[in-house]
Amino acid sequence: MARSGLQGPYPLTEKTILNLVVNALDWSSAAVFALGDVKEKKFLIRRVGHADGDLANELKHYLGQYGAFRFRFYRSTRTAYNKECRLYHQFNPKDNAKHPTKPKNTKFTCPEPFCALSE
Ligand SMILES: [Zn+2]
Repeated sequence: MARSGLQGPYPLTEKTILNLVVNALDWSSAAVFALGDVKEKKFLIRRVGHADGDLANELKHYLGQYGAFRFRFYRSTRTAYNKECRLYHQFNPKDNAKHPTKPKNTKFTCPEPFCALSE
């Protein structure tokens, strides 16, 4: 499987969220995450998403639903959105019912030229 470029995978628990996300040294309000399960040491992505403000809170919605997560902080919402879109197209996660939505109050477009939302 292709690499996601995110950190992890880590077990999705309150403790890992606190230690790795809340107390992260590079904490930022913009973040991208992937949720899934680890099978035979491979992380299978089932959902990708982004956080705009509070990644820990976002991840807590999924406690009990997924076994593991990956994430990464970004310095800008634009970079995070680009990453989220690329992961969405690359992995086509089955729990994502639709294409990632652009952050509020932006005119961002999908970075993939073949995508209908790229212009
Ligand atoms: Zn797209």
